[in-house]
Amino acid sequence: MIGKGTKLYSILRMKCPRCHKGSFFKSHPYDFSKMGEVKEECSECKLRYSLEPSFYQGSYYVAYALGVALFITVWVLKLVFFPNLGPGGLLITILVSLFLFSPILYALSKIIWINFFIKYKKDAIKSVQEE
Ligand SMILES: [Zn+2]
Repeated sequence: MIGKGTKLYSILRMKCPRCHKGSFFKSHPYDFSKMGEVKEECSECKLRYSLEPSFYQGSYYVAYALGVALFITVWVLKLVFFPNLGPGGLLITILVSLFLFSPILYALSKIIWINFFIKYKKDAIKSVQEE
């Protein structure tokens, strides 16, 4: 479906953007003690995930775009399935969905942000042969 080597693979599986093998986050996005915490480096290809100090501040722009996308999705779903729901109901629905999805949006914004700067390299791990 989504093959290795594409940025979507790295983003959706939350893998290292260079080798697509090592995991990017310390834990699952909904593990609240380590929510959105990025590892120091890739366990497979040793890529340092923080390219420069405060590197992930730029991911706020991505988080904003994802938030807008979520808003539009909720709004369209409301129009299709609950056309009689008033503005108060829409507001509550948006707030609840933002609350539910913010951990995954936060994690996605970071992995999308680093994928802007790092390209996939097939031979990033020299010792690992192609399967
Ligand atoms: Zn890697």
